[in-house]
Amino acid sequence: MTPTPPDDTRPLTGSDLDYGPAGDADGTRVVRAGLPAEEPYEPPLPGPVFAAHYHLPGEVEGAPYAYGRDANPTWTRLERAIADLEAPEDPEAEVVVFSSGMGAISAVLLSLTRPGQTVVLPCDGYNLLAALHERLEGFGVRVRTAPTGGDAQLDEVEGARLLWLETPSNPGLDVCDIRRLAQAAHEQGALVAVDNTLATPLGQRPLLLGADISVASGTKALTGHGDVLLGYVATRSPEVAAAVRAWRKTVGAIPGPMEAWLAHRSLATLEVRTRRQAGNALAVAEALAARPEVSDVRHPGLTDDPAHALASHQMSRYGCVVSFTLPDQAHANRFLARLRLVGDATSFGGVRSTAERRGRWGGDPVPEGFVRLSVGVEDSADLVRDIRRALDASAAPESGAVADGLGGGV
Ligand SMILES: *Cc1c(COP(=O)(O)O)cnc(C)c1O
Repeated sequence: MTPTPPDDTRPLTGSDLDYGPAGDADGTRVVRAGLPAEEPYEPPLPGPVFAAHYHLPGEVEGAPYAYGRDANPTWTRLERAIADLEAPEDPEAEVVVFSSGMGAISAVLLSLTRPGQTVVLPCDGYNLLAALHERLEGFGVRVRTAPTGGDAQLDEVEGARLLWLETPSNPGLDVCDIRRLAQAAHEQGALVAVDNTLATPLGQRPLLLGADISVASGTKALTGHGDVLLGYVATRSPEVAAAVRAWRKTVGAIPGPMEAWLAHRSLATLEVRTRRQAGNALAVAEALAARPEVSDVRHPGLTDDPAHALASHQMSRYGCVVSFTLPDQAHANRFLARLRLVGDATSFGGVRSTAERRGRWGGDPVPEGFVRLSVGVEDSADLVRDIRRALDASAAPESGAVADGLGGGV
């Protein structure tokens, strides 16, 4: 369909806004995604609907909104928006939003598996997968694991019910081939889910690469301001959508209307934020790679990164996370304390840069001096200068006293 711009000599009507959603570029798509048809004197994005229940005349059957744990119009608009980003050309794609990324991940793993079935997880994915691994085994589900890199999970898919991928992986930033793994898993009759948190739907579209399910934490780059916890499941399978929706209703892992509304509002800037962050991340990664005390700099956008060739085939944008290793724990802590523009904090994807020594949490297979840095939307040159200065100031333990006056994390 060729987009037809509305005739600007008459007032816009709702149907004028139907033009072009399938063909628009992402920068255009994000500012309109999920908005209702335009109504005179109504806001473009209606405010959050605070409702525990709705007027419900007669029978429940067919009522779109009955009780607040089941559905909410603010969620519906956000769900349509995310569906439009995860699967732009596919009106059948459905999204179910959750109160957090873990709410969404648990919904997929726990609603789609039964005792005796097998799930294949990455052994280097988000650290709470380990807790779910234990929980699944407690319920009699068999769990196999393999690393993300080298498509090693391929060797484990035989007879599996569900293959879980996380690419790029957090925090190691390894990448696996979604198309190849999905094809192999489908030959075994397995469902394929991809944790798309790090890339966001503007960086990677797992459903278009053959996955059945794209799951993410909206807490990170999707919403991007570090003020909301959110998760979602996107799928083209009506059965999967129904299962995770029923799970959400049963466990009550629902987002608040305010969070859902803030998330929707934040989507309008997703394209500009992730574009800027991707450029900044590459500049920071290159600056880090040039330093002798820094080793194992990983970022899928670096042309000499082991994951780059594969990433360039399935990602359109490489995300905001750079990981690297300093010689030891004390060195990493000195570096983090000397940064002025990068806060020492967990999470990633926000407009303000943050970094942390990942080993402080335990549970991730990383060295003590491993740092996960999330690059924000600051000026690129300022950021690189701050990181270089902090590296200089943290080079030797005795330089700490001198550098203390330069200010700590923000
Ligand atoms: C943060 C994160 C999660 C968990 O999301 P929450 O919103 O914190 O529950 C899951 N997967 C990945 C890759 C993450 O980075």
